[in-house]
Amino acid sequence: MSFADILGHDRIIEVLRRSLRNGKTAHSYLFEGVCGSGRRKSALALIQALFCTVLPDDACGSCPSCRKIAGGNHPDIHFIAPLPDKRDISIEQLRGMQRDLSLRPYEAPRKACIIDPAERMSVGAANSLLKTLEEPPGNALIILLTENAGLLLPTVRSRCQLFRFAPLSLEHLLTLLIQSGISSDSAALLAPMAGGSVQKALELDNESLTIRREAVLSSVAKLNLNRIATVFDASEELAGNREKTIELLDMLLSFYRDAVLLGAGTGDIVNRSSRHEIESLAARRSFPKNLELLESIYETRRSVQRNANPKLAMDHLFMTLADGNRS
Ligand SMILES: [Zn+2]
Repeated sequence: MSFADILGHDRIIEVLRRSLRNGKTAHSYLFEGVCGSGRRKSALALIQALFCTVLPDDACGSCPSCRKIAGGNHPDIHFIAPLPDKRDISIEQLRGMQRDLSLRPYEAPRKACIIDPAERMSVGAANSLLKTLEEPPGNALIILLTENAGLLLPTVRSRCQLFRFAPLSLEHLLTLLIQSGISSDSAALLAPMAGGSVQKALELDNESLTIRREAVLSSVAKLNLNRIATVFDASEELAGNREKTIELLDMLLSFYRDAVLLGAGTGDIVNRSSRHEIESLAARRSFPKNLELLESIYETRRSVQRNANPKLAMDHLFMTLADGNRS
């Protein structure tokens, strides 16, 4: 894992590389961001660069240390996660890690440890970590990964150097999905739904997603204020609990974002395999009206996230989308 393999976090990588060159890496880092945005890869790249015997500020990829890390079997790297069937990372796990860190490294200049997800440390575990974060035994490097730094004890947060990993851009997500062996058509389908996370994109069930997407496009095409049943049927059929409704809204955002792009004269849309349907969606209204619809979808997403009733919110949104679809 070299820094070049990490997309979308250039500023963070530059800061890390500079500290490696100056020999001034921190003892403890906190990498915050959604799962699948590149936090873990960056943590491993940092450790690999630190252990590499050839390059000062990156991994060469070919020295014995780099090869062991790439193979997932370097003896001086520890991973701490909740044990199977356990919700939390326990104080016993942390004590075990502290004992390991206090032993001499086998071959690296220092030991390293990744704790993921750090917000799942029990309060006892987190408290027992405080001294280790301040003065890690044997100068060990400790990297905590979290989706939300606000869920950690302030005393843990303040002892770490914090880096915030933004969700990946659509473009970087597409590149990474295609690199991972997904076809470009499937990647174009998954990426807009994945909230900037490679992991979420890979978790989304591609086949059922295709079916759902077709259902959404076809329901939106049928919306008609003169036949009000089309509105209530659509929200009955497509909305669901909050999570499902947000997924639906992400899909609608992605369609209408593409409709606006087509209206603006750019052909560079993400839902390429539904180009025909999106074109007819775009052609139904003027460009400013499509922009307004896009804003209404964003607003609905915000209110559903803030606790609005999903079904009522979708009734209202589908009515807005139907307005202008009179036949
Ligand atoms: Zn190396």
